[in-house]
Amino acid sequence: MLKKHPMIKKNDKVMVIVGKEKGKIGSVLKVDAEKGRVIVEKLNMVKRHTRAGGRSAQGGIIEKEAPIHVSNLMLVCNKCAESTRVGKQILEDGSRVRACKKCGELLDS
Ligand SMILES: [Zn+2]
Repeated sequence: MLKKHPMIKKNDKVMVIVGKEKGKIGSVLKVDAEKGRVIVEKLNMVKRHTRAGGRSAQGGIIEKEAPIHVSNLMLVCNKCAESTRVGKQILEDGSRVRACKKCGELLDS
């Protein structure tokens, strides 16, 4: 069962709300719902050292996204282009979708 907090899904736009990357926006590449962590494109980059392996491969440093806890992120509404609180709306057919609390824009398509 999913815990309550992961309102964030793959391909969502999110903003970092704490730390040195505060205010930066990226799209979600991967969600780990169990741990409540997500990988956000080009955010929270960490340098990893790679070792030379094989004959031609060179050792070096690559940059890779490290997971960010969802509590450090906020969804960004496509319409407002701002971080927003997410509300739930129930459609006519009874399905639940996420919606921006400011403008009502549906965040699920
Ligand atoms: Zn909005």
